Amino acid sequence: MQTTLMIYDGTAPADSDVPRTGGVPLAPAGFTWPMCGSCCGRPLQFFAHLHVEYGVLSVFVCQNDPGACEFWDAASGANRVYLFPREGLRPVVVPEMGVTLLPATSAIRTHVVTLDPEEDDHDELAPDPYDLARSGWKREPEERFGKQREVLGSLGGSPSYLEDDRLPSCPSCTGATEFAAHLEEGISTQTAMNLGGQLGYVFVCRACRTGAFLTD
Ligand SMILES: [Zn+2]
Ligand SMILES: [Zn+2]
Repeated sequence: MQTTLMIYDGTAPADSDVPRTGGVPLAPAGFTWPMCGSCCGRPLQFFAHLHVEYGVLSVFVCQNDPGACEFWDAASGANRVYLFPREGLRPVVVPEMGVTLLPATSAIRTHVVTLDPEEDDHDELAPDPYDLARSGWKREPEERFGKQREVLGSLGGSPSYLEDDRLPSCPSCTGATEFAAHLEEGISTQTAMNLGGQLGYVFVCRACRTGAFLTD
């Protein structure tokens, strides 16, 4: 049972093509910054630039009015996920209005955790691979306070403790989506993505080159 954790790896240039949270989005020519379809019509905030084997996932979430805007709901219009090709991406012009950028750009490195299912044979509930891997990161290689915040999420695998009725459909073809990533708020409360203290879920429809985002 393998889980690919995403681990905080220091800061990065805002427009670099490295996996990261924050900074400026990279997109194909002609891309326009997405606007909120829920609260206000103002620009969404750019959350993450994630490398996956089939391209780059770009995640935007509305933060203009977090109390009122249902940014946690995949169908609210308050968040957006794009699947871009790896080549030909360029920095997107940042809108002058709205809450668009995170205060810091955080590079991501991946760390594959292999867990032996036998260790948990006595558990009545099936162990959740992401939960186990994330908890394990806190203990290894050395324990220190706050280390768990270094885990920025994971890539691939299955969604952690998500009810089946919350699995989002593709906003384009309305078919089933594929789970792509977990997102955690981040290393520091000053610079973190606002997920309302919850775990973020990124889904993708490879055929439509789009996706969906929600929090638990
Ligand atoms: Zn909004
Ligand atoms: Zn689709």
